[in-house]
Amino acid sequence: MLLISCPNCGPRDETEFHYGGQAHIAYPESPNDLTDRQWAEYLFYRENTKGTFAERWVHSTGCRQWFNMLRDTVSYDIHSIYAMGQPRPDLSASAAVGTGSSQKTEPDQPGEFSQAGDYGQAGEPGLAPGAPTTGAASPTATTPISSEGV
Ligand SMILES: [Zn+2]
Repeated sequence: MLLISCPNCGPRDETEFHYGGQAHIAYPESPNDLTDRQWAEYLFYRENTKGTFAERWVHSTGCRQWFNMLRDTVSYDIHSIYAMGQPRPDLSASAAVGTGSSQKTEPDQPGEFSQAGDYGQAGEPGLAPGAPTTGAASPTATTPISSEGV
């Protein structure tokens, strides 16, 4: 489970949020000029990124505000949370963050997480692959979240 830092409310449990799909999908300037195919692509075609992905979230049981998040779809690491309307943050300046993340064990099998292994031995086999991320995340972390606490 993810610990998500709402820009308005602070760190909250993932269950308080709803996923809103890919971020930065702009409404067409002149929809009437689009072909059916272009309109369909606007409506339905989305990236299926393996790695860092910009997506929208809403704090549905909290402040009910939307925001954007840069999240790694492999490691579940949250790299950045930023306001709607802001451009996607450039993570190339903080390439060390990505490098640090990639050194982690691939979460294909939860048991291969060193932390998950500890949880597993404690008798909690039902942990989701993302669970260790929550355990490692600092509740005081703000954006951008560095890899040092992970
Ligand atoms: Zn909130």
